[in-house]
Amino acid sequence: VDTHEIPEDNLTMDNDNPLRPKTLGDYIGQDKVKENLKIYIDAAMQRGESLDHVLLYGPPGLGKTTLSQIIANELGVNIRITSGPAIEKPGDLAALLTNLNEGDVLFIDEIHRLNRSVEEILYPAMEDFAIDIITGKGQMAASYHLPLPRFTLVGATTRAGQLTAPLRDRFGVTLRLELYSPEELSTIITRSAGILNVDIDHDGALELASRSRGTPRIANRLLKRVRDFAQVLNNGKVTCDIARTALDKMEIDELGLDQNDRRMLESMIKFYNGGPVGLETLAAAIGEEAVTIEDVYEPYLMQIGFLQRTPRGRCVTAEGYRHLGYDFGKSNNQ
Ligand code: ATP
Repeated sequence: VDTHEIPEDNLTMDNDNPLRPKTLGDYIGQDKVKENLKIYIDAAMQRGESLDHVLLYGPPGLGKTTLSQIIANELGVNIRITSGPAIEKPGDLAALLTNLNEGDVLFIDEIHRLNRSVEEILYPAMEDFAIDIITGKGQMAASYHLPLPRFTLVGATTRAGQLTAPLRDRFGVTLRLELYSPEELSTIITRSAGILNVDIDHDGALELASRSRGTPRIANRLLKRVRDFAQVLNNGKVTCDIARTALDKMEIDELGLDQNDRRMLESMIKFYNGGPVGLETLAAAIGEEAVTIEDVYEPYLMQIGFLQRTPRGRCVTAEGYRHLGYDFGKSNNQ
């Protein structure tokens, strides 16, 4: 086994983030996911077995990393955190796997970005809890069969479709995280405000929540910025008015769209008559990566009904036109 540095990236530093809920009970929203997960965890524990491998998918910032830590915590085992791009060679993965204890969780974020040679080691590891390592070359080559502890792999990806079929098939549990409702986000914001000692009222929390694009990571980030405005302008108290003032100054509109969202929709309206426009064309037009458009911009714009994906490309809807102040009937050719 290659013993060079184990690729555990600095995600682990985030373990100390005080805002991360530690138990399923503290994890707000995602009720279907939590309900099922609780059954699987309880059942595995009653049988004294490790939990089957779990695939979490959904847009970034919805709490996949948090949930993986909760899974380990509820199972009473340790977690090792890494990511697809951080595991460069089969030996890196072998080092990680052989250092696990019985029942531990190995969390691989961005698991769709594993390279092929690493992925091939992962198949037998997931299925048979063993890996075959080949050392040396030619006549000196030797193969070792290494049994592994029974571990639980938790993989996270923005889209399940990005995984190769053989990898996807080896997960016993697949859970899709959804964007959060404003009410759920408002509960998360109130909880985070309590931990950060920020004085926020109900309307302030709801105002922030409704502009957080269904995403807890954005909600927590906006809370910290709005806290700055409240501190300087309002004795530290976050009210609806202060939240509005702060978010307007940050150019985040009442639905949570920022400059990037608006720029994308506006380019579609101005240069492509609102669509249909292909993803790659759109990416080139606004100077953004296609995956960023798909993973970061589109889920929320589709959820609020501003954007549609059609077989011929992306289209801005009548609501999208209206929100940006354009006349739908005139220019579009949908
Ligand atoms: P990704 O889904 O991209 O892995 P993530 O899991 O990294 O996103 P986190 O960083 O875990 O997202 O979540 C961002 C923050 O949002 C966390 O620090 C946590 O405070 C908060 N958070 C996420 N989901 C929840 C939730 N369901 N309940 C309460 N707080 C949450």
